[in-house]
Order: sequence, then structure tokens, then C-alpha cells
Amino acid sequence: MNKITQSKELLSWYEAQGRDLPWRVKGGAHPNPYIVFVSEIMLQQTTVKTVIPYFKKFMKRFPDIESLAQASEEEVYKYWQGLGYYSRARSLHEAAKTIKEQGKFPQTREEVLKLKGIGNYTVSSFLALAFNKPETIIDGNVIRIITRLYHLTEPTEKIQNIIRQKAEELTDKESPADYASAIMDLGAIICTPKKPQCLLCPWQKYCQSKNKQDIEQIPNRTKIQRQEKYGSVYIIINSQKEIYIRKRKEKGLLSGLYEFPWKDEGKMFEKDSLCITDSGRQVTHNFSHFKLTLQIYNIQTEKNLTDGLFVPETSLKDYPISTLMKKVWQKYKANKKNIHTKI
Ligand code: SF4
Repeated sequence: MNKITQSKELLSWYEAQGRDLPWRVKGGAHPNPYIVFVSEIMLQQTTVKTVIPYFKKFMKRFPDIESLAQASEEEVYKYWQGLGYYSRARSLHEAAKTIKEQGKFPQTREEVLKLKGIGNYTVSSFLALAFNKPETIIDGNVIRIITRLYHLTEPTEKIQNIIRQKAEELTDKESPADYASAIMDLGAIICTPKKPQCLLCPWQKYCQSKNKQDIEQIPNRTKIQRQEKYGSVYIIINSQKEIYIRKRKEKGLLSGLYEFPWKDEGKMFEKDSLCITDSGRQVTHNFSHFKLTLQIYNIQTEKNLTDGLFVPETSLKDYPISTLMKKVWQKYKANKKNIHTKI
């Protein structure tokens, strides 16, 4: 099966049948990154239908990054009123101020992740839709389409890597922005959770679930028992009271994010090699395939560690750091009266 032909067929369907949405420009033209940014934040946990009137009103009052950055928090809240999840309004406002200060929209995964309120899903859709970057979006719509296309009946939690790989293979490398919109529309209006309209589907000839009785049972959302893992994480501090962080590889678990050194089995450092103390605290975090509990250790050192960097505590917030490591930091600081630095 030729994946390029398949993705082009979806793009042709999208040109003719895709939804006209106020934040969207079809036909390979790129919308304004500001418009994409506002719409992506509004669409977090909220349906397209609900967002449309709020988006129009918001854009009329705040047509560009400058007008939003200069507005008062109260006014931004006023225009968000009724949309819910108000932390999004605060994050959007703070991100607008950061972008205005920087003078341009960030265009790399690492830079976008530093903006307030941006997670892995939003960064992919933002980069694809605003800058036509070949990012693959994995949301509920995409998972449903991919699992049905290949008739993948195992619990989705168990086959996330397969779903991602197949979704990446299909992503159109010439028009990732249109492709991202197209696959979302296919999921929203054709390959719906109930009663998918297979006869209208541009991918029906490729689909292994079409005409099968179990189509509405796919994707399989059964929760799987997570494997439990235990390990250790190290808050390493030098004599200038700087904290040691390192960047993860660009592929795999928590790719590209910064972290405190950790190991998922046993300990990483021998006790006599560095000045280690057990903080007496631990954190637990659920990944898709396993549940991880990390014991937090504290290390004072003058050693020159080479695979990362020492940064002042106040600068930690400037680095994209995973939720797991944010939990570690909060827990580490929890016995102090005040947590001085939120990351
Ligand atoms: S043929 Fe039907 S099940 Fe398959 S992708 Fe299209 S709408 Fe979904």
C-alpha cells in the first residue's frame, strides 16, 4: 500500500469536504501562528462547536499578540468567561507576554514547550498547523482512525508505539498542516465513535475494519494493569547552590525534556562516590506502560558532571521539564516552609 497516495487521497477529500472553521485556512496556506495558538488553547478539553463563538469574540477584541499581551488579566478573563478551565486563559495571557518579549513565535518543540500551558499534544498540533512542520498529532480521533484502519483490537494503552508508528507513516510530509486538519476532520465527521460513515470515507479501500461487526468496539479502551517500577532520582547541588539538570534524547520516553538524573531500577550512584543523603521522600507517576516510584536523594558535589548543566534554582522554570520532574521538585521542596521556585 502506498502511504503517499493514501495521504494525498485524504487531502483531496479534505479540500472538498473538510470543515470551514474560523481559525483555519485551507489549500496549503498557513494561518497566522497567533490564530492557531489561541484556537489550540481554547480547544483543549472543549468541543469545536463550543469554542467557535468564544473564539470570534476573543479575536475581535485581541486580534494580535500585542493586544493580548497588553491587556489586563481581568479583561482576558472577561472574554474567556463561560468557556471554563480558566487556568488556560491565564496561561494564554502569560504565553502572549513571553512571545511579545521574545519578538517572535517559537518554532521548535523545545522552545514551544517552555510556554505556559503547553503540553506534548498542543506542541505537535501548533507546530504542524502554524508552521507546517512534519509533526504527527495523536489524539482521540487519530487513535480511532488508525486502530480501525489496521483493525488493531488490543487495548490502546498497550499498543501506543504501534499506533504512533502507523500515524507517522501516514503523515503527509509535504502538507503536514493540511494533513493534521484533514485527519481530525475525518475522525470528527466520518470515522465517528458510533455509526462511522464508511461509505463516505476516503480511506475505505484501505480499511481493515470496514464491514466488520466489531467496528464500534475499536479502539479498545480497556485499562491495562501497569507494571510497577522503582528507582531513584537525584537533586544534585554544587557549592553555588546551582541544581544539576540534563536533557533527554530526542526519541523515546519524555524525549527532549530536561530532568534531574534518575534511574528506574535501584540506585544510580554508589553512596561513597558522592555526598548522598536520602531525602526520605518519594514520588509516584503513571506512564502509559508502567507505574514508577522514585526515591528522592540529595547530593552535594563539587564534581564536574559532564552530560548536563548546573543552573540557578530561579532558572529551572526556563527549561522544559516533564510532569514527573515537576512532581519530584515539588516533593523535594515540600518540607521547606515556602516553595520558592515553581517549575
Ligand atoms: S472505512 Fe470506516 S472504519 Fe475505516 S477509517 Fe473509514 S470511516 Fe473509519
